[in-house]
Amino acid sequence: MGKFDTVIIGAGAAGMFCAAMAGQAGSRVLLIDNGKKPGRKILMSGGGRCNFTNLYIEPAAYLSQNPHFCKSALARYTQWDFIDMVGKHGIAWHEKTLGQLFCDESAQQIVDMLVAECEKGQVTTRLRSEVLSIERDENGYTIQLNGDSVQAAKLVIATGGLSMPGLGATPFGYKIAEQFGLKVLPTRAGLVPFTLHKPLLEQLQVLSGVSVPSVITAENGVSFRENLLFTHRGLSGPAVLQLSSYWQPGEYVSVNLLPDTDLDEFLNEQRDAHPNQSLKNTLGMVLPKRLVECLQLLGQIPDVTLKQLNSRQQSELIETLQAWQVQPNGTEGYRTAEVTLGGVDTNELSSRTMEARNVPGLYFIGEVMDVTGWLGGYNFQWAWSSAWACAQDLAGE
Ligand SMILES: Cc1cc2nc3c(=O)[nH]c(=O)nc-3n(C[C@H](O)[C@H](O)[C@H](O)COP(=O)(O)OP(=O)(O)OC[C@H]3O[C@@H](n4cnc5c(N)ncnc54)[C@H](O)[C@@H]3O)c2cc1C
Repeated sequence: MGKFDTVIIGAGAAGMFCAAMAGQAGSRVLLIDNGKKPGRKILMSGGGRCNFTNLYIEPAAYLSQNPHFCKSALARYTQWDFIDMVGKHGIAWHEKTLGQLFCDESAQQIVDMLVAECEKGQVTTRLRSEVLSIERDENGYTIQLNGDSVQAAKLVIATGGLSMPGLGATPFGYKIAEQFGLKVLPTRAGLVPFTLHKPLLEQLQVLSGVSVPSVITAENGVSFRENLLFTHRGLSGPAVLQLSSYWQPGEYVSVNLLPDTDLDEFLNEQRDAHPNQSLKNTLGMVLPKRLVECLQLLGQIPDVTLKQLNSRQQSELIETLQAWQVQPNGTEGYRTAEVTLGGVDTNELSSRTMEARNVPGLYFIGEVMDVTGWLGGYNFQWAWSSAWACAQDLAGE
């Protein structure tokens, strides 16, 4: 039986970073994953360029039943610390938008960096490994693997959430939490496209591929200003992905397709200047033409000139374009979701160390717990920050 100080299950963002940091601080670490490659989600992330953090990390950008939980770790290992590490590895990066930092070249560079940091910490890595059972006694944890068993004083669960089962996601972390009596909050897909009811979907399908700057607001008042993308399944784009984390089944969302235009004023000005101009051509100046044509075919935009547009029609039009009420049918679910909301209840864990309050030596880091960030590098920063906080404790610092 192999003996280690620490066994970490899950060689994703949080697991690799924690292994590296704990190893470098002197802990003998075994890092286990069920896949044949470490960091598979990192490789897929940010369109292959990994949006590894955000310049504007703040606790308010995280969803959790305990919004205070993330504060300590985010403050102790910040985006600047990670940017520093990326810089030391010579990885060039750029800000795309809204503080989102991406590799200039490839997400592979982040995985290579984490592998190199693990090597520096003399971490032993075992890929393609299934964990069959975990038991705890006075010596620590005994982990039964396929064909072998290992023992460690400390066990870190870094198995992530349920999104993208094709990339190795399993409910393993939640099962282990339950095995040791920890509460697991209900999970659901987050940062995920909306699907639409069939009649609306059929009407909007011609718009597939059209993207518009918008402000989308949930029933609870949370709103995001970013692009909305019409797809052949429903609605996507950053604004929709962000809002999906705040949406509950059955609720409506309100969409402003012209967030930067005072539409009433614009129509009045245009009417004064060009009374015989068609409403369709006028709206085509501020909205994609395909969208205007589709809405006209659906009877949402009257087929009139500006001088024919009466005040009731103008008010209705403003309502349609700036407070469009959409009731999504659902989301695309874990298959395409970037994250999983819910998970191990943070009230069960120490926010300083990520250790279970009532199970000495058992830690949870990264997405497996009930901390979920916005789109834009926030989730990786949570992986780095929570992993770092845990590693400090593993190393006895
Ligand atoms: C397509 C996509 C793109 C994304 N892009 C971004 C982005 O650009 N920026 C950002 O901040 N976030 C992004 N995210 C979210 C981000 O990838 C996750 O929040 C982050 O990877 C979570 O880190 P983690 O270490 O907790 O889990 P993961 O990175 O998911 O790692 C979990 C690991 O555990 C392993 N595992 C699971 N079950 C078992 C088991 N039973 N036995 C052994 N091993 C197991 C898995 O194989 C995996 O390697 C993206 C997510 C997806 C799906």
